[in-house]
Parts: sequence; C-alpha cells; structure tokens
Amino acid sequence: MAVMKHLENQIAVVTGAGRGIGRAIALKFAAEGADIAAVDLKTDFVQETVEEVRKLGRKAWAVAANVSEAASVEAAVEQILKEAGRVDILVNNAGITKDGLLMRMSEADWDAVLDINLKGTFLFTKAFSRAFVKQRSGRIVNIASVIGLIGNAGQCNYAASKAGVIGFTKSVARELASRGVTANAIAPGFIETKMTEALGPEARTALLKQIPLASLGQPGDVAEAALFFASPAARYITGQVLAVDGGMVM
Ligand code: NAP
Repeated sequence: MAVMKHLENQIAVVTGAGRGIGRAIALKFAAEGADIAAVDLKTDFVQETVEEVRKLGRKAWAVAANVSEAASVEAAVEQILKEAGRVDILVNNAGITKDGLLMRMSEADWDAVLDINLKGTFLFTKAFSRAFVKQRSGRIVNIASVIGLIGNAGQCNYAASKAGVIGFTKSVARELASRGVTANAIAPGFIETKMTEALGPEARTALLKQIPLASLGQPGDVAEAALFFASPAARYITGQVLAVDGGMVM
C-alpha cells in the first residue's frame, strides 16, 4: 500500500527557492507530494530546483519576481494562479542581509533589507490572500529569524525586518483565521547557507558557544518545520513563531 504523503496534491509557492533554505523547503514539499511554484529574481536561478522537483514526480513552475516590487509580484502571482490553477501554501522565504553598525548604516542598506524581507512578505501575502479567503483555506509560512526576537549588533535593519515579519504574521493570522487560513512564522538560528558562508572561523567558534546543540543548522531542519506548518497536522495552529535554532533562544 502506498504511504500517504503529508502534502499530497497541494500546490505551494516558495519565494527565494533558488538556493539555501527556500530550495530545501521546495524539495521537501515536493517529496511530500506538492507541486511547486519556485520564485526567485530570475528564472535561471530556480532551474535546478525546478528540475529536482520534476525528478520527484511533481509539477514545477519557474517564476521570476523581485519580491520587493509590487508590479513584479502581481505579475508573478497572476502567472502562478493561471498556470497552477490554485495555490494552497505560500512560503515567504526570500531574504537578504546588509549588515553594518547603526551609526554607519546607509539609508539604502536599511531600505533594501526592509523592502525585500518585510515588504516582500507583505506583497506576496496580500496578493494570495484574496484567493485563500475565497477558497476558505490556505497556509502561510513566513521565514523570520531569531535575530527578530533577540536583536543583534550590526543587524538593526535585519532585526527590524524580521521582528516586522513576526508582527505581520500574527496580524494576518488574526485577520484570516475565520476564513480557514493560517499564518505562522519560523525563526531559524544559524543555518549553513550562502547567507552564513561569510562567517570566519572565530565568529563560528563564538557562535557555537551560544548554541546548546553545538552545531549550525541545515536548510533541511527549517524545511521540516515549514512542512509541519503546511501539513494537516498543524490545522489548529496559527500566529505562532517556531525557533529552529539548536536551542539558542529559549
Ligand atoms: P540565501 O542562500 O541567500 O537565499 C536567499 C534566496 O532569496 C536566494 O535564492 C535569493 O536569490 C533570493 N532573493 C533575494 N532577494 C530576492 C528578491 N528581491 N526577490 C526574489 N528573491 C530574492 O539565504 P538563506 O540562508 O537560504 O535564507 C532564506 C531565508 O531564511 C531568508 O529570509 C533569511 O533571512 C532567513 N534566515 C536565514 C538564516 C541563516 O542562518 N541562513 C537564519 C535566519 C533566517 P538570489 O540568488 O537572486 O540572491
């Protein structure tokens, strides 16, 4: 007898699906039976993700969008709804860092991080909310960060964007709950991706001292949490923030 998969025949949109955490989420969801609209700045960037999803026997669409631009997001959402027909799960994962101390932080670096991490999450969520409300179901999973919970010297823009994502998630959860739509956030700690690649050996050693489980996380660890929020198992859970951080924040 075939084993029932957790996301059988669901359709999921994952932003920033070209690499790192977004790609791991796309592949995990596909392995669990979902078709994937893989969004990134350019379709080239998601080609590998799309090919791997198809190898898993699921449909995949490559979608180009800059999450921080309303017109680009609207065009992408229109394309997805036309090609996929329906969307069940939205994962707002695209994000960037532009670190610097407050006193030296440029307005451009502040704006870029807030525009992609926070406004991008707003634009994509808003764009799918109509369809979710209409179909009386939908799962929104936003990728925040532990930095949004505890702050970090040198990351005031990033911390503000991720704290914003958490507040946004809770508000959306309250607004859409009566329509059968849930919204939850994941707060990853330090996960091995291109984003954390730049950490030098000293920074790495200092970091490991703050992580009770004494290792950096893998993109797949975040994907497991995203799968939980997207799956039927989480039907009665909304407005929550789950840290996936080796115990850093407790
Ligand atoms: P990553 O490897 O840098 O991947 C980020 C993805 O987002 C890339 O594919 C990137 O595309 C895409 N992206 C960036 N700006 C975009 C835009 N304007 N429009 C569309 N796509 C865009 O980073 P990651 O570590 O996987 O991070 C994924 C999410 O997890 C982010 O929200 C990040 O803040 C969060 N997070 C990561 C960690 C960690 O330790 N790694 C910890 C906490 C939270 P390009 O190829 O074009 O750059």
